[in-house]
Amino acid sequence: MRYIELMLMPGFMLLMLLQALNGQKLPEGAGNSIRQRTYDIVHFKADLEFDLHAGSLAGEVEVTAKLLTPAASITLDAYYLDVSSVSIGEDRTPLSFDSNTHQLLIELPRAYQPDELFTVAVAYTASPKAGMMFQSDWADTSRIYVHTYGEGGMHANWLPIYNDINDKFTSEMIITVPAPNVVISNGSLVEEYETGTSRTYHYRQEKVHSNYLIALYIGEFEKGSLESAFGEIAINYWVPAGRLEEGAYAFRNTTRMVEHFSNLLGYRYPWVKYDQIAVPDYAVGAMEHTGVTGHRSSVLRKPGENAPLDFGGPEFTEYSTDWSAEATISHELAHHWFGDNLTCASLGYIWLNESFASYMMMLWDEESLGPEQLDYDVLLAKRHYTEYVSTEHIIRPLEYHYYDAPSDIYNEEHTYLKGGAVLHMLRNAMGDAAFFGGLQHYLQEYEFDNVVSADLQKALEESSQLDLDWFFDEWVTGGGHPQFEVTYSYHQQAGLIELIVTQVQPQVEGQGLFQLPVDITISAGGKRWTEKIRVSQADEHFMLKSATKPDMVSFDGDGALVAEVFFDKTASEWAYQAANDALAGRFRAINSLATDYPKAPETNRTFSHILGTNAYWADQAEVASLLAHLDEKNGLKLIKRALKNTDYRVRKGAVLALGQLTAPAARKLLARVVKSESHPDVLATAINHSANSVRLDHLNSKAWYNEIAIGALERLNGLENAAGLAQVAAMATGPYNVHVRLAALGAWVEAAPDSVGQLLFVLNDKDAHGPHYVPPGWKGS
Ligand SMILES: [Zn+2]
Repeated sequence: MRYIELMLMPGFMLLMLLQALNGQKLPEGAGNSIRQRTYDIVHFKADLEFDLHAGSLAGEVEVTAKLLTPAASITLDAYYLDVSSVSIGEDRTPLSFDSNTHQLLIELPRAYQPDELFTVAVAYTASPKAGMMFQSDWADTSRIYVHTYGEGGMHANWLPIYNDINDKFTSEMIITVPAPNVVISNGSLVEEYETGTSRTYHYRQEKVHSNYLIALYIGEFEKGSLESAFGEIAINYWVPAGRLEEGAYAFRNTTRMVEHFSNLLGYRYPWVKYDQIAVPDYAVGAMEHTGVTGHRSSVLRKPGENAPLDFGGPEFTEYSTDWSAEATISHELAHHWFGDNLTCASLGYIWLNESFASYMMMLWDEESLGPEQLDYDVLLAKRHYTEYVSTEHIIRPLEYHYYDAPSDIYNEEHTYLKGGAVLHMLRNAMGDAAFFGGLQHYLQEYEFDNVVSADLQKALEESSQLDLDWFFDEWVTGGGHPQFEVTYSYHQQAGLIELIVTQVQPQVEGQGLFQLPVDITISAGGKRWTEKIRVSQADEHFMLKSATKPDMVSFDGDGALVAEVFFDKTASEWAYQAANDALAGRFRAINSLATDYPKAPETNRTFSHILGTNAYWADQAEVASLLAHLDEKNGLKLIKRALKNTDYRVRKGAVLALGQLTAPAARKLLARVVKSESHPDVLATAINHSANSVRLDHLNSKAWYNEIAIGALERLNGLENAAGLAQVAAMATGPYNVHVRLAALGAWVEAAPDSVGQLLFVLNDKDAHGPHYVPPGWKGS
């Protein structure tokens, strides 16, 4: 339909649209390359004592290294460390050194030759503000948790170290903390002992890894154990005191995941253990240190709590997210093959870590929930990626070296979502045996090493004997994606379908024409079959045999391609496809019916049928979320039906549709959902979409991660009574998770803009989740 709409558009609008499309471009930024090393660290050992309430550490690091070229000095990365002495060798001969805010230059006693091993010891103190965080527990502010996050070169904030990813070494952590805190780090626990009120933990990581994968977690954690993987690899989880039941439930599938990924890749999980830690307010969602993953505590959930599948925080705009808790757990685990074992040589190749972990999380869904869930995950990833391209006009190749900040290259829509979908396309193009066999070869060939994209291509080609130049050119070092406009006509007498395929994506630097195999699914005369075509030109005609007029001609109905497809079809053709195609084709049909034929009887009939049968949950949820497109009478009738569905995601889709409607009957129905809905996530979404239904008692509703309170706080437009304002102020500063505090701050600003000075006081407070701060004159809650 899009092609026809273009033709009907007034000229100036067409011009604007074309300009917007042609605005697609490669992102700009400084050129980055693999950092040139002058030395090679062999072993890294830290012996540190912590003062948790002061947020500081003191101790010594021993760096065992050899030079790569002869020199009489070595420079370590060291950010804002207070270095007191540097020495060398077992007799600790003092060395002269010079340190500034970012580097520690150490003068060696003489010129050292390459391969001559030496050990320098650095004594220092640090009060890190990045890389290592000291945070009080929002549930009990007397407890301090320490967590680490090293991606993007952060660990030099607490360790004098080589701070890039292209050096691998073994590591050792001897960490002393006040009891009853525990310490979790990489590798095996060598020993643990108490001295007075202090505890010391000694961990050793025997297999090499990059600096950013060093883990250090300190806190009053309790440990739970799952069944070991393959009867050998210990699988543990660590949670804040009192939350073991939630940990056992959240992480219950980890052992199965470790075994599944090991079997699927033909390469066993290579580390001695796997520890997962739930940290209150972890700096990012989660981080895959070697053998240790830190998660935000939103990963935790109680059995029977009816928590949504989501992980990162409540989601009020979509019925499903890319990042379920289970997906996050499998993503971080997958890094233990792609990232921790094989590590990209520089951030320009970060797709070799992140796109793989993102596809592996979809592969866990395939294993645990079935192949349609994989299809749905790929579809959702592509949807979010193409939405990003159409709004931001950025087309970034997966391998890309021009960026100013690491955060640019970690772009979720490209590196994670598109990257995962690109690997799914590669799997489809190669076939399962060649794809997974190639990955096994890649893992074996480059284990414990740094890699670039060419290493992957070489391994896949060696193993499969396929030529993959075309794929890597278009999808790894090339950017963008094809936009196909497709139509067909049937020539009765010749018994031929004439399929016309046009590539309409802007031809700009970084994005050209694509050469791709495409599956065309045809249903005709009671039969169904697939024709394979290969597109390569801007405008192509394909003649496909069909003795009878087809009921369905579906272009990439399996959703194998990273592409946008605009197929011009009648309502009855879409209705047939919605009932008969694979998931991606069904979704294309459902969306085309809603947007192009909202008033057609076929649309009402199709949607009614999908909601009335045991169709796949995602079809039902997608239909529910699109019901605002229909006319009011049919739309509301079907919304009511969707609200009775047993899957909460379908009801959530219906609530999202209701939220778009302004008719009094729709507003009334939404208010009724707020009164009667039992699932906290659907209720929170309904509250979030209906300002008039928010009640102050929603702020106290019990739910996973306080999501009902968050839904309500975001909708408390201009509080009128002082009691409410006091409660919101208390929530902004009190013992709540970060999403609650931010939503409460937002509500506070909106309700009492005059109190900005007081808000700044709260925000500047060193411990923002310290004691309740209640503004003068307001009653406490
Ligand atoms: Zn990741």
